[in-house]
Amino acid sequence: MKYKISAYSTALFSTWINVEELNLLIDAGDGLTASLLQKSRKIKNVFITHPDRDHLNGLPQFVQLNSRDGFPRIYYPKDSGSFPAMNSFLTKFDPHVSLSSWIGIEDKSRIEIKKNIVVEAIRNEHVKSPLGIHKSLSYKIFEIKNKLKPEFLSKSGNEIKEIVAKNGRDFITEKVESNILSFSGDTPVDDYSKWDGSKVLMHEATFLKNDGDTQIESKGNKHSRIDEVLQMVKEIEIGSLILNHFSSRYSKNEIDRTVIKLIDELKIQIPVFLVYPGEIKRDILRTKPINE
Ligand SMILES: [Zn+2]
Repeated sequence: MKYKISAYSTALFSTWINVEELNLLIDAGDGLTASLLQKSRKIKNVFITHPDRDHLNGLPQFVQLNSRDGFPRIYYPKDSGSFPAMNSFLTKFDPHVSLSSWIGIEDKSRIEIKKNIVVEAIRNEHVKSPLGIHKSLSYKIFEIKNKLKPEFLSKSGNEIKEIVAKNGRDFITEKVESNILSFSGDTPVDDYSKWDGSKVLMHEATFLKNDGDTQIESKGNKHSRIDEVLQMVKEIEIGSLILNHFSSRYSKNEIDRTVIKLIDELKIQIPVFLVYPGEIKRDILRTKPINE
């Protein structure tokens, strides 16, 4: 299934990503409600990757508009003090915000956001922190399906019916998870294997070349460079790639040229989509890939 993914993502300014069918928002940079309008009201679960302001400053208006008995649920890296501080400020500012839920999570936390759809948090190294302290997370989304166990594949319909009548349906099926979407959040490229098998990978590519930004990197937070991201993509199996979080210093032309050149050099075959700085891209997977 092609999910309807829409996003705005420009390093330093704002990042938010909406997956419409999953009522899901990843990160909540400013402009999110102004851009999504009524669609923002369908969002039930929000996963914030880290406490940089460009990833959370859209929350005040979002929760003000949408707080109702336990929703939205806002998940954040549990050792970030920014979220409890914001929650307590917003509850004074707009008392009905107390109806929303704010939930700290950590590496390997798994949350079922819909029947058979699970979001898993994975630690990344964007924000430097000791092991066991959770300040920056990536997210992977899994779809869980019940499939017939291999040993029953050759049985006839009647035989299956008999076995189910005797032992129950769980006896013949097993749960199979597929990684339908992955979101890197802000992160350096490190362990390739965590994205291997993603049907869709949305990865940051703050830099086109080796010209580390004093402003973006002022806190020592680590980002990815496009050639490192594409080198990784070449070496793993994914279905399609959405590149986002480019620095606004680069023009669209410069981004296109650099990405196309690397795709050619590395012989990358999967569709690659770009979210340009300063632009909202709606329903990304139904737009034309840069390499088509
Ligand atoms: Zn960022």
